[in-house]
Amino acid sequence: MKNDNFQLREAILSEKTDEGRIRCLTCMRKCIISEGEVGFCKTRKNIGGKLYTLIYGDISSLSANPIEKKPFFHFYPGSKALTVGSWSCNFTCPWCQNWEISKHPPDEFKNYVSPEQFMRLVKAYKCQGTSISFNEPTLLLEYSLDVFRLAKKMGYYNTYVTNGYMTPQALDLLIGSGLDAMNVDVKGCKETVQKYCGADVDYVWRNIHESKKRGIHIEITTLVIPRVNDDVDCLRSIARRIREEDENIPWHVTRFHPEYKMTDREATPIQTLERAREVGLGEGLKYVYIGNVPGHRGENTWCPNCGELLIERYIFSITKYRITPENKCPRCGTQIPIIGKPHL
Ligand code: SF4
Ligand code: SF4
Repeated sequence: MKNDNFQLREAILSEKTDEGRIRCLTCMRKCIISEGEVGFCKTRKNIGGKLYTLIYGDISSLSANPIEKKPFFHFYPGSKALTVGSWSCNFTCPWCQNWEISKHPPDEFKNYVSPEQFMRLVKAYKCQGTSISFNEPTLLLEYSLDVFRLAKKMGYYNTYVTNGYMTPQALDLLIGSGLDAMNVDVKGCKETVQKYCGADVDYVWRNIHESKKRGIHIEITTLVIPRVNDDVDCLRSIARRIREEDENIPWHVTRFHPEYKMTDREATPIQTLERAREVGLGEGLKYVYIGNVPGHRGENTWCPNCGELLIERYIFSITKYRITPENKCPRCGTQIPIIGKPHL
């Protein structure tokens, strides 16, 4: 049943085309939408010549998560972020690990949560910040902006876990409204992303570059999938691009489990992830992490200078934190790039 507290909102980024249709400017698909139609992601609809978002506050999932789960390993370590997602996606990844919501159209506001209610929950769950995640957060742009502004006023941080396909205008609005950090999925090299996700990865790199330049904390994740993006050349090209941006950007190479349209494929062998980590370190990246392999030493932070153990993790928990209050290695004094205070 529809929740009556919701309000249909006009989309914030659109323009009229010459033919009387509307171009959505939320993500780089830039769909042109006719009267009564929806865009590729089904979350934007042309109603009477105006573009509306069909998912403002239409929440599919909500939970207080350790920030390590996003994953962010160099941002407020040990803190908790109240995390929400909505419905649908602008990519077509056949391996999607969140397909129950990302392949689901808007749900008619059955679980409407206003930004004010959301912020009350952030406080009630004793979180230190917010995260828009689970499906593609860019589709929840209008809601994100309202949540972020409120969160900033109340002293909380704001994060996005994203495929990084927003337009420059959307990115600008997010940064202006108080976005602090993004974990961006780089799903592969150009051909792979085009083939499986129907997207141009150059726009993702552009957004990483622009965000970094404007002081947003960036971490990058690559879900390593057998026979999709696990060859050394592909992994090396991603690592090189990250290094060109900044060798201190953490790179998470995470394990794929068979899901959605790829249930016939095996989970990523541990050796493949270890090889990916070696490739990243070999290309000069200072922090490369193995994800979804509980207890692996690649989950930990090691000093890039002397090899000392700095942060030991088990799944999403910190089991040892040895970085000094000045963010230095306790053994050799190397400065470690960590944003925000740890919550241990
Ligand atoms: S947000 Fe949706 S409707 Fe808008 S451009 Fe992207 S895919 Fe198209
Ligand atoms: S971008 Fe993320 S949420 Fe969207 S289909 Fe791909 S893996 Fe799923």
